[in-house]
Amino acid sequence: MTLDLRDRVTDVPDFPTEGIIFKDVMPLIADPEYFAESISLLAEWARPREPDLILGAEARGFIFGAALAYELGAGFIAARKPGRLPRETVEATYALEYGTDSLQIHRDAVAPGARVIVLDDVLATGGTARAKVELVEGLGGVVVGLLFVIELSFLSGRERLNGYDVHSLIQY
Ligand code: AMP
Repeated sequence: MTLDLRDRVTDVPDFPTEGIIFKDVMPLIADPEYFAESISLLAEWARPREPDLILGAEARGFIFGAALAYELGAGFIAARKPGRLPRETVEATYALEYGTDSLQIHRDAVAPGARVIVLDDVLATGGTARAKVELVEGLGGVVVGLLFVIELSFLSGRERLNGYDVHSLIQY
């Protein structure tokens, strides 16, 4: 029987600010069966795209991203908030569903021509994903897919990722 991943996603109203319904995937990560199923579904989509690297942002992007990279035999690279990475970085700034933020990756994280899948737990407005695309392409990498566990379709994040191969496991 296939699992419905939705059964392990909890709605948290008014977090982190009023009016936002936060999709908490921690229960899914905490359940061995559901976590394994989500990684297996992500890998099924990612594998034929033959990525060299999976790019994930802190913090939940690290969890899914590292497990996916391991499953695929790919590498994992981290996008982090400014000031966290120890060596020379490149940076992109973006608007969030709740505020603005910046992400950095190491300048040497993506070799020219490297095939990269950009991964996150939630696709909301698409701003974060867009910033990660800019970072990868700025270093000469090729974005071969954008992959999400959850897509908030009503925020139309997909439209900001026009022209890219976008996939999500569950939609709201
Ligand atoms: P966005 O840039 O608007 O697509 O936002 C995506 C990023 O913000 C992801 O890293 C999510 O983890 C987080 N995020 C935005 N909205 C939500 C939400 N309603 N529930 C959980 N995470 C969210």
